[in-house]
Amino acid sequence: MLQGSASARMLANLNYRTGMIEESKRTCHWCGHEFSCGQALRRHMLIHTGETPFRCFHCDYATNRRESLKAHCLRHHEMSEEEFRLKAKAAFPPAGPRGRPRKKPTV
Ligand SMILES: [Zn+2]
Ligand SMILES: [Zn+2]
Repeated sequence: MLQGSASARMLANLNYRTGMIEESKRTCHWCGHEFSCGQALRRHMLIHTGETPFRCFHCDYATNRRESLKAHCLRHHEMSEEEFRLKAKAAFPPAGPRGRPRKKPTV
């Protein structure tokens, strides 16, 4: 979709004195998150286009499936299922009406 234009934009952002991509161009203009390279920023931008709404709490990983994020967190960040559940609940509140918990957790 953005063939050619992406690299053209990179060149436009190039600081010709230092040969570096200017720092501000690696900052997400949606959330202000800074990235070390343009590729990481481009991947991150998918989050804001709605394709990958489930973001990892610890790294740049993002996915469009909650289960995928859970698997990622458990595997890569040694998070427990309970810890993930609590964090996900705070970060990604369910869209539907807030229901009462049906079951009491059995300890
Ligand atoms: Zn962002
Ligand atoms: Zn992660």
